Amino acid sequence: MAEVAVIGGGVTGIQAALDIANHGIRVHLIEREASIGGHMAQLDKTFPTNDCSMCILSPKMVDVARHPNVVIHTLTEVKSITGDVGRFTISAIRHPRYVDEDACNGCGDCIEVCPVEVYNIFDAGMGVRKAIYKPHAQIVPNITIRDAVHCIDCGLCFDICGKNAVLREEEEQEVILEVASVVIATGFRTFDAEKKKEFGYLHHPDVITSLEFERLINASGPTGGKIKRLSDGTTPDHIVFIQCFGSRDISLKRPYCSGVCCMYAIKNAILIKEKNQDTKVTICYMDIRAYGKGYEEYYIRAQELGIRFLRGRPGEIIRTADGMKIPVENTETSELEILEPGLVVLSVGLEPADGAEKIAEMFGIERDDYGFFEQEEVKCAPVKTIRPGVYIAGAAVSPKDIPDSVTQGEAAAMRAFLDALAAK
Ligand SMILES: Cc1cc2nc3c(=O)[nH]c(=O)nc-3n(C[C@H](O)[C@H](O)[C@H](O)COP(=O)(O)OP(=O)(O)OC[C@H]3O[C@@H](n4cnc5c(N)ncnc54)[C@H](O)[C@@H]3O)c2cc1C
Repeated sequence: MAEVAVIGGGVTGIQAALDIANHGIRVHLIEREASIGGHMAQLDKTFPTNDCSMCILSPKMVDVARHPNVVIHTLTEVKSITGDVGRFTISAIRHPRYVDEDACNGCGDCIEVCPVEVYNIFDAGMGVRKAIYKPHAQIVPNITIRDAVHCIDCGLCFDICGKNAVLREEEEQEVILEVASVVIATGFRTFDAEKKKEFGYLHHPDVITSLEFERLINASGPTGGKIKRLSDGTTPDHIVFIQCFGSRDISLKRPYCSGVCCMYAIKNAILIKEKNQDTKVTICYMDIRAYGKGYEEYYIRAQELGIRFLRGRPGEIIRTADGMKIPVENTETSELEILEPGLVVLSVGLEPADGAEKIAEMFGIERDDYGFFEQEEVKCAPVKTIRPGVYIAGAAVSPKDIPDSVTQGEAAAMRAFLDALAAK
């Protein structure tokens, strides 16, 4: 029976895999990280309903992992693809986990005894993890990973593991898959805020990115959801969001709108107000793009909560002896205002994931001027590429919110399913 490969285990890829599997076709879900989930697993709540992100995603992660028609390949990357629609051969490399996937039961005893602490990329670099670790508590599959680079070989994890699951050595393995069609859902990465040096990101601890803020405000994040300044652990009394940071900026060759930043800033501003009504929140914006179902109402709700929308684009953050100052022209009044925030959140834009260029080359598909995968025809074939049998979906195609990503995942799943059916 023909099979399908889905590359990228974010919400788009998970949805596509579930839909194909539910139609009786075997799916290989290929994810390069240790867990599926993608960026949605890092978020606190989701606009416009403020539902807890993991409460929606986690059941999907578990469903896909338990589905009899789905094989999840974590820590795995595609190296080559040959053949045509109906009979592709994919060669992928599975990187070592240094933990036996069949033996590990995810108990976490090894994590408890590990003496090494390093920054946790999952917590956007704000929290710490051990050298043997789970990036977060709800990972799927629920198996630890040993980071061989930071491991000091103290042997404690080997000794404590009753299942002998921790491995001293493990080689890369080649995985060969024969599939009828492929869905590429490799998502995005956020704009590197360091590129705009005038804002002092990484030089001033109280200037953080929106993804870092998602971890900061998250009850399962490094501060248990308490909004604290990294400089001194105090609660900021004024939080400023700077919009279009790495979006709609011709000088950075990013003229496009990242689609989600207005809404995620409004979301986080509302969440701040829900936690502490007295915290002053200012959003410095160019235009508010609240285009989705229920989004305009969400924006109005934010205004009613007392969140200030200041139309103006700051050019720098000035560090002073007692904090920060942000000069900004209020373009509605033409007045120069000086903001004095305790915490600044840079609403970083979305760009193609690392390695998108390689994927495009390998699969023989096109990319647009900004590196996102190009559709064969944007209006009537939004998930088709120029290569028959290869479909694209989610934020890998263009910046997208979760509802639109899921919709495209479903559309791509149907296309891939039909190819598999035809190849049976
Ligand atoms: C700060 C912030 C807040 C947000 N808040 C919201 C919100 O409240 N509501 C909302 O609707 N949207 C929100 N979004 C947008 C949301 O994150 C995206 O819509 C969603 O994550 C897109 O899912 P995806 O699966 O397409 O991509 P991703 O989540 O990026 O997942 C892609 C997956 O593919 C994997 N991958 C990448 N390359 C490869 C490869 N070569 N091989 C194998 N695997 C690979 C990645 O590791 C990842 O797991 C927010 C975004 C940001 C940045």
